[in-house]
Order: sequence, then C-alpha cells, then structure tokens
Amino acid sequence: AGPSKYEVSAEAAVDLAKRHLIQPWPYSGSIGTEARSLIGSGDGIYIHDGEGRRLIDGPAGMWCVNAGHRREELARVMYDQAMELSYNTPWYTMNSPSAVLAERIAGHAPGDLRHVFFTTGGSSAVESALRFMQFYNNVRGRSEKKLIISRGGAYHGSTYLSASLNGRPRDRDWMDIAGGLVVKLTSPDPFRRPAAMTIEAFSDFLVSEFEETVERLGADKIGAFVAEPIQASGGVIVSPPNYLPRIRQICRANDILYISDEVVTGFGRLGEIFASESVFGLSPDIITFAKGVTSGYFPLGGMIVSDRLLADLRRSNHPDAMYAHGLTYSSHPVGCAVALANLDLLENGILDHARDVAPYFIEEMKTLEDLPLVGEVRGIGLMACVECVADRESNNPLQLDIEVGKRIDAHCYALGLLVRPLIHMCVMSPPLIITREQIDDMVAILREGISRTMEDLRREGVWRN
Ligand code: PLP
Repeated sequence: AGPSKYEVSAEAAVDLAKRHLIQPWPYSGSIGTEARSLIGSGDGIYIHDGEGRRLIDGPAGMWCVNAGHRREELARVMYDQAMELSYNTPWYTMNSPSAVLAERIAGHAPGDLRHVFFTTGGSSAVESALRFMQFYNNVRGRSEKKLIISRGGAYHGSTYLSASLNGRPRDRDWMDIAGGLVVKLTSPDPFRRPAAMTIEAFSDFLVSEFEETVERLGADKIGAFVAEPIQASGGVIVSPPNYLPRIRQICRANDILYISDEVVTGFGRLGEIFASESVFGLSPDIITFAKGVTSGYFPLGGMIVSDRLLADLRRSNHPDAMYAHGLTYSSHPVGCAVALANLDLLENGILDHARDVAPYFIEEMKTLEDLPLVGEVRGIGLMACVECVADRESNNPLQLDIEVGKRIDAHCYALGLLVRPLIHMCVMSPPLIITREQIDDMVAILREGISRTMEDLRREGVWRN
C-alpha cells in the first residue's frame, strides 16, 4: 500500500488547511487559519510526519489506536465489508455485523448488561445514555428525576449535554452548557486532596459529599451519576480505592443510574475489555464505550444497557412511548465489522500483552519522578500522566503551566515522541502492542524532553530548582 491518490505534498496540505479547514478545539484568534503537525502515515506504535520524521505515538492517537497502526487485518475487513454492504438504514433494516458485535460485547460486559446501542463515537454514546435516562424516568412516571451528577476533572464529550458534564474549567470558559441539568462534585484527585487528609479520609469526604448532595437535592430529583473509572483527559486521575464501589451502592439504594464512561478505559487500556467490574469492582447500569472498540480505524461508539432497565420499560404502562433517538450511522456495518476484527486481535494476544507490559510501563514512567520539575507520575494499565509542579512541597501547578506541557512536547517531538500535553501534564497512553524496548525509548525521550525544558526555564530565569 502507498499514499492514496488524494494525498498532496506537505506544503500544499498545510496551505489548504490554513485556507479551508477548521481544526477541533481552535482559538478564536487563529480559527480557520491554522495548520497542525501533518501526519502522513503510521506503522505499529509509530507515526510519520510530513517531513518524514518517525515519532512514537505516545497518546495512541487520542487513546484509541489500541491495536497499533497499519493492521492489515483491520484494513482488509473494512474493504471486504464495504464491498459486501457499505451501509443500510438502521431505521427500518438491520445488518449482521452489528448483531454479532452486540453479542460479543455483551459477553464481556459485567452483570446483566446484555444489550448494546451503537453510536458514532464517545460523545454520542454519552449523549445516548443521558437521553436514555431521561426517557426511562419519563416512562416510569418520574419526570422530575433528571439531574445528572458529574465531577470536577471529568471529560465526557463535545455534544451539548455530554459537554455540560465536563469538569475541566477551561472547557467551559467561553461555551454555554445545560447547567441547570447538571451538578458537579469534587474531582477524586488524591494528588490535589487537602493537605493533612489521608487517602482514606479523602475517600470518606468524597462519599459524604455525594450522600449530602443526594440528601439536599432529593433522590427523586437525581437521574444519573456519570463517571470515568479513571479520569483520562483530566490527567489520568486514579481515584481512592473503593470510592467508586461505595458511590455505586448509594446509587443503587436511591434509584440513580450509574453510567460508567469507559470510552478510554474500555477495549484493553487497562488490560480488560471493560474495567468497571474487573478492575474497579462495580457493576454499572450503563457502560459507554468508543475509541478502542475499533482501535480508531472507524468512528464507532455505543452504550451497553442493563437488562433490568429494558425490562422496566417493557412492562411500563406506556408501551407506545418511543425512545426517539437514533443516528444515521447507528449500527454501521463497516464500523461493526472492523470492531469484530479488532476484538479478535485483542482477545488473541493484545490483552495478554497489555497486562504483561503494564507494570513495566508504570515502573519506568515512575522513574521520571526524580526530575525536579515532576510532581507526580501516576497511572494504571497502559495509561500514565506526568504532572509537573514548580514546588514539590505545596504541589502548586506552575505559573507557567500552560507553557510547560507545550515546551516538553516540542522537545520530545524533535527527539521522536508525540506527547499529548494537557497544560502542565503529559499523558502517555501508547498503542497496547508496545514492547519493553519501545517503552525504554519512550521514557528516555520523555526524560530528555523534560530535562531540556528545565534547562530552558532556568536559563530564562522563570523557574529555579
Ligand atoms: N468520554 C470520555 C471519557 C472521553 O475521553 C471522550 C473523548 O476523549 C469522550 C467521552 C468523547 O468521545 P468522542 O471524542 O469520540 O466524541
């Protein structure tokens, strides 16, 4: 295989983008005029940029290229499926790959989560789950029970309602949200817990905050709690042990749906197809997924719904009430076919490999904690975050925090590693096929990139340590 016939020179692509492309997450000052690093091809854990530079794909695209780039098995099944049936309307017809995939996914899901609704990605999966909660409570005659509880540090998507759940302040500065529908609780970030509070006390605090919120607002007003098992875009926040199962219990006792957003943690990132039960010991009412389900080869997501909820709907007094929600590309045959091939890869080696190398990955990433700019390295499975701080004692984010991640990224880029800077944090979530030697390369480059950033900051006199 070579470049497609639509590929143009790097200069031409940059020029066209600057004139015609709106990039995601743009700033108003450069909207519609911006070019980003041009990526031309990918292979395994590597991508190649427009200048022919080979880079380790540190974030696996956006936590999604789990099986790695250029997997012929995945490319071929998309071709075969498109030649057989490229699309059918899910309004009046169905296809076989979506039925087979639903059964395969249900087989991996915990508890009685046995039915799958397919969407086009993560935002649409979360949006579908939230609208399902609204529908479910309307049909049951509980139209007041609609509030959604989310948390600081959360990221759940870019559609109106899913984005209203986001807990990172920057995401909302200039955007409107459906604020009246959502209640936000404290981010479960142990690194930022109040000084002098033990992890156990912090966990108790988070649980009491939840209980008090239910008490104050009334369980009859709260429809759902939505949580990523690990807050990914918030900076790989690993919450205190046992906190999520305790919240789950409270949800169950108060008829509040627990929606576990596994858009990042699903499909192998933590060595399992789903992590809610196997890693965190809880069985949610709904799981949302996307990204790794196709290893990023095709836009697909979905939600897995508890059979109990479906049974409640079927025996309600409103059998004609319609869940008026569906997407043109729900159950897309090409997406579902590639997801099946991707599951084959995960089940036949990649999950085992991910479980095998994960402890080494975390251990090696942790070695970066000896750098004075690094406040903490945390992670689980094949996701980790390097959080930079100016001052280890107070754990204050750097004043120049917006700069730091970008500077580290620029150095690492020149050295052959793509980093995904999140303000002052660098997140690493490589393709799950990464070997120990490649982990060594990745961490060595990251160490060098951070060291060079420290030298720059010292030279400029903006940081002393
Ligand atoms: N949920 C989580 C946990 C995510 O990390 C993301 C994206 O990063 C989304 C939802 C939104 O997914 P998408 O960008 O596919 O719409």
